[in-house]
Amino acid sequence: ALAPQPIGRFAPSPTGELHLGSLTTALASFCHIKSLNGQWLLRIEDTDTERCDRQFTEQILIDLETLGLHWDGDIIYQSERIDIYNDYLSSALRPLTYGCQCSRKDLEQYWAQEEQNGLVNDTSQGSPNRKRYPRCCIKAGLNRQEHKLRIQLPDYRIGFNDGIQGIQWDNPQQTLGDMVARRQDGMINYILAASLDDGLQQVTHVMRGLDILPMTTAQISIMRAVHLPPIDHWYHLPLICHPDGQKLSKQNLAQPIDTRDPSQLIATALQLLQQPAVDQDTPTNMLKQAIAQWDNTPLQGKQQLNAPH
Ligand code: GLU
Repeated sequence: ALAPQPIGRFAPSPTGELHLGSLTTALASFCHIKSLNGQWLLRIEDTDTERCDRQFTEQILIDLETLGLHWDGDIIYQSERIDIYNDYLSSALRPLTYGCQCSRKDLEQYWAQEEQNGLVNDTSQGSPNRKRYPRCCIKAGLNRQEHKLRIQLPDYRIGFNDGIQGIQWDNPQQTLGDMVARRQDGMINYILAASLDDGLQQVTHVMRGLDILPMTTAQISIMRAVHLPPIDHWYHLPLICHPDGQKLSKQNLAQPIDTRDPSQLIATALQLLQQPAVDQDTPTNMLKQAIAQWDNTPLQGKQQLNAPH
């Protein structure tokens, strides 16, 4: 049988404009999936209405167009798909989810007590003693509409082969506990929404930042639970850091990209991604060459890449 056409995606959260970090994620996922003759979908992850802004979305679309990063098919806006996520929560995910009324303050008090009792002594990721939700409400049968919903993540290790970071094993219960799947105000957890959409959009290749890696086994388990087709190929890109080693993010005010010279920007981002140089040309022609030359190997095993001064 013919292998299905590769499908990749770029899934920005419009909480700000593109910066060098998000641009390299876009460029890498685009070139990689196009080098496999695949489709590149664009999904706007705007479920967090407090932090997302329509103006940022519009600027992201303009920037992608200016850079020649043309997406396939229609754009998906997660803010228009809340009913779909809620349908899953009340059907396939219902047995795994439960209402919870524990406040942040309740939990902090609980963990402080545990710490006093010497029970929480290691809060690092993956540690069995990490602060996780103690499931106080799991048997309470609280009203699902009136409270936040938590999802029971499996308490066993799940493995996957990451095309950049190598073989990964993680126990999602140890890493995330019973994470909040839907807040009391209705906001859907972003990795839950991403899991459902990746499955529904039949994504085969996920290439994204290393900052999302701790969520990946949760995503795998959610997709399994709802019987959506699994992601065949995972790639977690090294994070782009300031020359001083600090991660670029909106929080530390990474500068929005300047698209006045799109060709230069593409050249810079390709260099950052350790790809062979391309001839200075129109963005579209530079991308064609970058696709033809695309190679993940220089990125393998790397957790960070340093941006130029
Ligand atoms: N929306 C996430 C972000 O902008 C990316 C999630 C994903 O690629 O799965 O960081």
